[in-house]
Amino acid sequence: MSSLSFWGAAGTVTGSKYLIESDGARALIDCGLFQGQRELRERNWQEPPFNAAAVGAVIITHAHIDHTGYLPRFVRHGFRGPVFCSRGTADRLKILLPDAARLQEEEADYRNRHKITKHLPALPLYTEADARETLKLISVVPNDGQVVNIAKGITAEFRIAGHILGSSQVLVRTDGQPSRSVLFSGDLGKYDQPIIRDPVAPPACDYLIVESTYGNRLHDPEDPKSALKRIINDAAQRGGPILIPAFAVGRSQEILYLIRELEDQKTIPILPVCLDSPMAAAATVAYAKRTEEQDEDYASVLARPQHPLRTHKMIACSSREESKRLSEVKGARVIISASGMMTGGRVLHHALRLVPDPNTTLLFVGYQAAGTTGRRILDGQQEVKIMGQWVPVRCRIERIGSFSAHADWREILQWLKGIPTAPRQTFLTHGEPAAAEAMAAHIRETFAWPTTVPIYGQRIELK
Ligand SMILES: [Zn+2]
Repeated sequence: MSSLSFWGAAGTVTGSKYLIESDGARALIDCGLFQGQRELRERNWQEPPFNAAAVGAVIITHAHIDHTGYLPRFVRHGFRGPVFCSRGTADRLKILLPDAARLQEEEADYRNRHKITKHLPALPLYTEADARETLKLISVVPNDGQVVNIAKGITAEFRIAGHILGSSQVLVRTDGQPSRSVLFSGDLGKYDQPIIRDPVAPPACDYLIVESTYGNRLHDPEDPKSALKRIINDAAQRGGPILIPAFAVGRSQEILYLIRELEDQKTIPILPVCLDSPMAAAATVAYAKRTEEQDEDYASVLARPQHPLRTHKMIACSSREESKRLSEVKGARVIISASGMMTGGRVLHHALRLVPDPNTTLLFVGYQAAGTTGRRILDGQQEVKIMGQWVPVRCRIERIGSFSAHADWREILQWLKGIPTAPRQTFLTHGEPAAAEAMAAHIRETFAWPTTVPIYGQRIELK
């Protein structure tokens, strides 16, 4: 008999990891990093709850760090199998994993130099060399529903999830007696968002695992472009900086694309836009390549002679020195820097200077998980700890909710309506408890399917 166990994204939005076992073969679906609350982050440092060397393969739904950021550590623990993912995801992982490693190395180094660490010396969870080893294991598969052999007696089918370029929903099938199928939604995209295609309808499955990040919310009706226009014009009038915490891959490109459009339409002044990330330039190039997940609008934009992902006055920083020089630029400007939830990375150096300044606009464009600095600021905390220092929050705070790459609860129901038959059981993951419970209630009410919210470490038999 096969089984499925939940080792992350259970009652939380980070650390996605699901283990499927079938006749001795094991496959892990997603290998995410825990972020936010300390007790969650500590799991990244503990021994994995199952033997990494005994896992035959990893399947990755999409490149975001909460789905992939544990991979190099998992390789350190002895995993040697293939890592299956779409072409788009592979392209992004090549940028993301070394970037994540470098940020951790920079942070450990900073903590050691400034003696702000409880563990001496502060260590990175993994290094760039570990990330490079991990990249060697990647095996690219089509994102169009073809059957792929994953491990002995386990196959998978990847289909577009419309969340970020390359994102997949994955149907995993076990051969065992009886044969069973489990559909992992991965993170689901919204319908009609810029650059990428809509999620495709879910295939039939015995068991269904659905994300619930926005299980208790509907997106803000203000479209991201008008919101961005309003915020940039406001800041330009005041002559103040806008700091946008965002990861180097995905959201940053979407923001650049919209700023460029607003500049071309002359609805905002042309401001210096600083993309402060070691890998940002590489990520922007990867994003400008045509892939099967891009929608028609974006394909036509890419065909234009000027680069659509460059604003008129853009500064990209790849080294730490360039990043430092950036702090000398004054006046109205836009700074985009990782990490997106202010849990680490260079955004913290900017935040240290800019968060206490009433002239700054801090603009959130993505989900802020509980326990992260981003969430604390968004929740109205008056003072936050950044790189070991308490700083007063005096800046203006803005959020563009509709920028989210996640479907809200109504869009998840819209996606689920496309499933050909009712699953035997549905599990809500990748949501904080209130969001996951709310999504479960929406599904029970709409479809009357048996639906539950699993807990960390829960194991179910695929009967
Ligand atoms: Zn995601």
